[in-house]
Amino acid sequence: MNLILLGPPGVGKGTQAKLLIDRFGIPQISTGDILRAAVKDLTPMGVKAKGFMDAGALVPDEVVIGIVEERLAQPDCQKGFILDGFPRTVPQADALGKVLSGMGKQIDHVVSLSVDKDELLKRLTGRRACSKCGAGYHVDFAPSKVAGVCDACGGDLFQREDDKEATILNRLAVYEAQTAPLISYYGAAGVLRSVDGLGTVDGVQAEILAVLQGAR
Ligand code: AMP
Repeated sequence: MNLILLGPPGVGKGTQAKLLIDRFGIPQISTGDILRAAVKDLTPMGVKAKGFMDAGALVPDEVVIGIVEERLAQPDCQKGFILDGFPRTVPQADALGKVLSGMGKQIDHVVSLSVDKDELLKRLTGRRACSKCGAGYHVDFAPSKVAGVCDACGGDLFQREDDKEATILNRLAVYEAQTAPLISYYGAAGVLRSVDGLGTVDGVQAEILAVLQGAR
């Protein structure tokens, strides 16, 4: 199954993707995660991407298209894949279509997740991650036992630079301008399935499974 999770930052794409990996045994391809790893490792791509990411802007299409093309060619994507955070522009979607058709593949489903802007802001500004082991927390919805300290390893928790409020507002504006048009793009292609992203993690997962199985 070849799947795209589409939706604004903070809607829960990454969380839902992780549950789908376990269920279907196919990998998640998160361009955000791949770029953050490159920034951390100070690779040439990471150095180039950092400024765009910190500002809440999109990294240039050719960079992310190259990342995804390389990743899709790896053997673990044979059975399928979950794209999370890609494509984010119409040129990225066009390029993905070309890459896949060159491999004799196609996108089976695009799951479009949505929640309102106030909820997105609350989710994103409260996100924290451990600087040592990477574990994720949320100050309201999934707090650590001791504020600022990781339950798992005792590392310090930090807020991603691009989860600060001013940057988030920019990321949401970028989403509306550049990524939201993909809803009609994939709607016209007949592969779009819409799911309400508000609710419990398990509730949203059940909705996603229902649309993937054609029950809704
Ligand atoms: P994410 O974790 O998916 O919200 O991505 C974090 C940041 O990485 C974004 O704000 C962009 O700067 C960059 N990024 C991730 N995926 C893409 C993409 N498909 N196109 C352009 N930039 C991206």
